[in-house]
Amino acid sequence: MATDSNRFQAIIGHCKEYGFIFPSSEIYDGLGAVYDYGQWGAELKKNIKDHWWHSMTRLHENIVGIDAAIFMHPTTWKASGHVDNFSDPMIDNKDSNKRYRVDHLIEAKADELEASGQKEQADILRQQMDELLSTDNFEGLKTLIENNKIACGISGTVNWTDVRQFNLMFSTEFGAVSSETEDNKIYLRPETAQGIFVNFLNVQKTGRMKIPFGIAQIGKAFRNEIVARQFIFRMREFEQMEMQFFVRPGTQAQWYEFWKQERLSWHLALGISPDKYRFHDHIKLAHYADAACDIEYDFPIGFKEVEGIHSRTDFDLKQHQEFSKKKLQYFDNDIDEATGKPYGNYIPYVVETSIGLDRTVMLLLSEAYEEQDLSTEEKKDSRVVLKFPPKFAPIKLAVLPLLKKDGLPEIARAIMDDCKPHFKCFYEEKDAIGKRYRRMDALGTPFCVTIDHQAKEDNTVTIRYRDSMQQERISIEQVRQLVQAAL
Ligand code: ATP
Repeated sequence: MATDSNRFQAIIGHCKEYGFIFPSSEIYDGLGAVYDYGQWGAELKKNIKDHWWHSMTRLHENIVGIDAAIFMHPTTWKASGHVDNFSDPMIDNKDSNKRYRVDHLIEAKADELEASGQKEQADILRQQMDELLSTDNFEGLKTLIENNKIACGISGTVNWTDVRQFNLMFSTEFGAVSSETEDNKIYLRPETAQGIFVNFLNVQKTGRMKIPFGIAQIGKAFRNEIVARQFIFRMREFEQMEMQFFVRPGTQAQWYEFWKQERLSWHLALGISPDKYRFHDHIKLAHYADAACDIEYDFPIGFKEVEGIHSRTDFDLKQHQEFSKKKLQYFDNDIDEATGKPYGNYIPYVVETSIGLDRTVMLLLSEAYEEQDLSTEEKKDSRVVLKFPPKFAPIKLAVLPLLKKDGLPEIARAIMDDCKPHFKCFYEEKDAIGKRYRRMDALGTPFCVTIDHQAKEDNTVTIRYRDSMQQERISIEQVRQLVQAAL
């Protein structure tokens, strides 16, 4: 698979240099697979959140949003199956003591084969892996690794332990008295979905929701990922944007198809080319699903999952009903044409869409990042530009007086005052104008206005467009409107 690790590294470097993303607690040398969003990364992330939230809860009249706590009653995770099943098959290399997720190890080998022109062998290897994973055949997976001479990246040997399961949930203690028993372990939620399931009836009843309806949520999730070295792509603390859509039993397949298409359309509406996306249907289904697929995007590290669409059946609600001994049913008074009677009481089925917020940040950065050679015969020149759609850009407008005197800052300040209640603006009067433009390009700011002496005479300023670098004069009154029209 074509990967561009230089480009990936360049994006990581750029994110740090320009205040988008820093390694967490960097002054203490960081913490593995945990990252902090800096001043511009936080803006970018918030813009994505707002966009997703609006598209779910405003454009769909039958979807409402909630914000559930990260801590949940410990029985939640027994009921959901996470205590028993939220694990990945792992294998350790005996010489380096390095632990690998089995599927990642084999997938990396398949990628390597494909890159060296052996596509057929790569496909066979992937197919064998899928089959063994779908039957939990751990011995078979170990043999597959050994037979294909898949070596540890550190020791270079094929001296492997047996394949074992490893639970990915983080646990902690709750309250003043720490409990030693497994039963009272509190977990940091590994997905936001369960906060929605346990609130299903609260929302349905208080919101008088009629099936089909959805509950959306954005929030942190935590997973003790083993292989976590792909920047914000795989973190131990990350954010999900999830929506659980509750439907009548028997209609889930049709809603699953609906949400597959709906979510792909959402991605394409970001202005991204369809050939950057593909669906990957799951062969091995999670314990709760009757159909599942990923929407994969062509990251600089290859096609990888950005969002999952899962038909979760009535598994979760049924489990919570059983463990809590509280009825989690819906009374459907619509008439079933087959019987002429109301559908009555049932546990709804659920189709879920689950997108990683951080992976969406990574996706937009990957789309936007461009290194451009602007050299002419006279001089060498280049720029790095982040071509974010204006809606997502951390800063929408930079206001740049050409000089720090002659009344130009006053005019610039008036433009700031007019615009800043409406969108994020940035004021700067230091450095040569060319340098200021480059800095704004690197942050992805779609518009800059420059205020020069002519502004005092005819009330016009120069607006510069990030992507084309073209400039034109417009009247000061037009600035706000022009930016707003692009958002
Ligand atoms: P993967 O196979 O890549 O581990 P997953 O199938 O376990 O992901 P889901 O449980 O379906 O992921 O979670 C839904 C979404 O949450 C994923 O599509 C992804 O965007 C995001 N996500 C999951 N794990 C992580 C992580 N460790 N770091 C960042 N985002 C994540």
